Amino acid sequence: MAQGFIKKRTKIVATISDKNCEPDFLRTLHEAGMDVVRINSAHLSPEGVIKIVNNTRSVSDKIAVLLDTKGPEIRTTICDEPIKFLKGQKIIIAGNSDEKTTASVINVNYGDIAGQVPSGAVILIDDGELEIKITGRKGDILEGSIENDGTLGSRKTVNIPQVRINLPSVSQRDLIFIDLAVKLDIEFIAHSFVRSKQDIMAVQKVLDGLESQIKIIAKIENQQGVDNLEEIMDHSYGIMVARGDLAIEVPFERIPGIQRMIISKCIERRKPVIVATQMLHSMITNPRPTRAEVSDVANAVYSQTDALMLSGETASGKFPVESVKTMARIAGEVEMEKEKYLEMPAGSLSGEVSAYLAKVAVKTSIRVNARAILADTVKGTAIRNMAAYRGVNPVVAQCYTYRTMRELALSYGVIPVFIEKKESVDEFIRTSLKDLLKRHVLKDNDILVLLAGNFSRGSGFSFIEVGTVEYLKERVMIGKSDLMA
Ligand code: PEP
Repeated sequence: MAQGFIKKRTKIVATISDKNCEPDFLRTLHEAGMDVVRINSAHLSPEGVIKIVNNTRSVSDKIAVLLDTKGPEIRTTICDEPIKFLKGQKIIIAGNSDEKTTASVINVNYGDIAGQVPSGAVILIDDGELEIKITGRKGDILEGSIENDGTLGSRKTVNIPQVRINLPSVSQRDLIFIDLAVKLDIEFIAHSFVRSKQDIMAVQKVLDGLESQIKIIAKIENQQGVDNLEEIMDHSYGIMVARGDLAIEVPFERIPGIQRMIISKCIERRKPVIVATQMLHSMITNPRPTRAEVSDVANAVYSQTDALMLSGETASGKFPVESVKTMARIAGEVEMEKEKYLEMPAGSLSGEVSAYLAKVAVKTSIRVNARAILADTVKGTAIRNMAAYRGVNPVVAQCYTYRTMRELALSYGVIPVFIEKKESVDEFIRTSLKDLLKRHVLKDNDILVLLAGNFSRGSGFSFIEVGTVEYLKERVMIGKSDLMA
């Protein structure tokens, strides 16, 4: 049935676990506002990943899939049962990845830990739940003291703030999951703990070797990633502000500023940006968000992020659907108030003419109060160009491939749809307008901005037209019978 346009322009990425990924559940999340399914390979087997991807595809061809790698990350090994540690207790840390963690030795999956961590450094385990101060080194073990009472379970994260650890860019486990991601033909790989362009280039090399078009999102979650943001952006499709680890690796009071800085740099460079972690954390157990969480989500939207992310809220929480609905509600409300157009130079990512027309289209659509911009695209570049202005009217992207359609699920204010390749302007207008009128309720005097050109040269926009629905219908001879289901 035809319906109105989207209720929110900010996209929602929801983390899904293989324990709760039935198609009906995913459909409900999608209808509530989920645009992208995120799968965290750190917590899953390949079979789990396959199940989530297959179920997602069975629900809709419009939902993009993003797979997180573990990246160059250190974790503790398994332990038989949670271990209680007390403040002041002495502890040994060793790099025996095949040995269990016990009450006297915490083993990690990185053999050279003793060689890389100096005396005086602080090791934070399980997102900072357990703090250990390193007091000395004996051969290939570190000695330390526990700084707070805490309980340690299996395979917990290990952060060593301000210490540069020499880990490979891509682990053996990452390679298995990247290979699987390529076989499953998903849209995005979010690489963890990106420190410099080399980490992204290493993933790109693997993808190129497999002739994959998967796009890489760089997760910024430590100081090195922040310091090298520009070069990382040069090699990435998009950026994730991974606040979970970031708030451990750098002083947490700097996170809001870093978040704002990353969002505005991404907008300038036309790179999709995701704000992640603990956005509605209390909704893992509560049906309503805290006031601070409402403000956190709102702040990210005021800063004009492309997307917001949910983690435990949807992966294992008690209120996953409510979490997506809550996020969508806050985003929709803030979008009505925030700045409606970002003035900046026409980005030349898709050729000068195309970039200029993209800017004109967004400005025109605001000036004439158009209902939507209707534009065609091959790779999505010119559409991302338009999304960067953060205009008020949805950009209905007519995509000539399913991959491009799903990639644009991450871009602000874009409604991506698939369309067969067209040969002329009239053919493009006729097909896309017919499709639009079948999907959405539009009045005859509603104004549309049409932007196209890829059918002729495949190199961006070359054509712009502004008109009412009535005029456009007449122009390409769309009658009532064309709009029957
Ligand atoms: C984060 O640290 O914020 C993050 C998104 O990564 P992960 O969920 O893998 O910890």
